[in-house]
Amino acid sequence: MSEIHKFLFEGLPVRGMLVRLTDSWQEVLAHRATAGDAFPPPVRVLLGEMAAAGVLMQSNIQFNGALVLQVFGDGPVKLAVAEVQPDLAFRVTAKVVGEVPEAARLEAMLNVHGQGRCAITLDPKDKLPGQQPYQGVVALHGDHREPLQALSEVLEHYMLQSEQLDTRLILAADDSVAAGLLIQRLPVQGEANLQGGARNEDLIGLDEAYNRIALLAGTLTCEELLTLDADTVLRRLFWQEPLRRFAPQAGSTGPRFECSCARTRVGSMLVSLGRDEVDSIIEEQGRVEIGCDFCGRKYHFDPVDVGELFTPAHDQPPGSAATH
Ligand SMILES: [Zn+2]
Repeated sequence: MSEIHKFLFEGLPVRGMLVRLTDSWQEVLAHRATAGDAFPPPVRVLLGEMAAAGVLMQSNIQFNGALVLQVFGDGPVKLAVAEVQPDLAFRVTAKVVGEVPEAARLEAMLNVHGQGRCAITLDPKDKLPGQQPYQGVVALHGDHREPLQALSEVLEHYMLQSEQLDTRLILAADDSVAAGLLIQRLPVQGEANLQGGARNEDLIGLDEAYNRIALLAGTLTCEELLTLDADTVLRRLFWQEPLRRFAPQAGSTGPRFECSCARTRVGSMLVSLGRDEVDSIIEEQGRVEIGCDFCGRKYHFDPVDVGELFTPAHDQPPGSAATH
């Protein structure tokens, strides 16, 4: 079962989380395979890592809205998206054009010309009028312009920039499991910060406890992360540390695949295209078929449905609204 484990190190300014997406991740891949549109293997790894990272980041900040992780690419992968809701429901998709080289990593997939970007968007659930979602963007290269090959490195950069917090992230995915381990230095308590004591950014790289624990975390191999259960991973890495664990979240309170697509929303999208456009599709194809990029679900609109879409709601007889 997909699960997330949270823990902290007693008396030390360090916390961590470990996520394992199993059934939910297999479900994502199965939907895509059923739709006859499976992603190339390197893209599956990328999306699995993005799903695991998205769940970790959402769980870490507990944002009341969607956390959307997007990588815009200039290679065969044009876009990769992972979206995680506050209740840890997640979905992912990618837009791939052309051949993805075997065993391709970040550069070969998304950053062939150095133009790849990773954007993290926090979209509040209850937006105030005019409120824009918060977005942070980082490039896919390091401080010395060297192209980064792992998503974890890109996200570590982002978290250092956006939160001024040291973060170690280890991600891995195959066709059965998408998993991740996050270790983060805790923010300096408000008071010390205000009284001119140590500030978060002053402590980057300098906390001994964090450095030791991050180093231990770095010894975890992808193979171990994918094949060992959470208890074994944490025991092996941190058996000498004062680890305090919290009850894992799994099942209905844990990370799971869920797509928020809906027929009414697809309908609104068609309305925004305009009647002429939609009518011309009907003329050509007899009906409109729109597939959801996230779950592969197909929505069909025949000429009668289209007629209803473009009829203002108050003109419709009761019960005729498209709900099927
Ligand atoms: Zn969907």
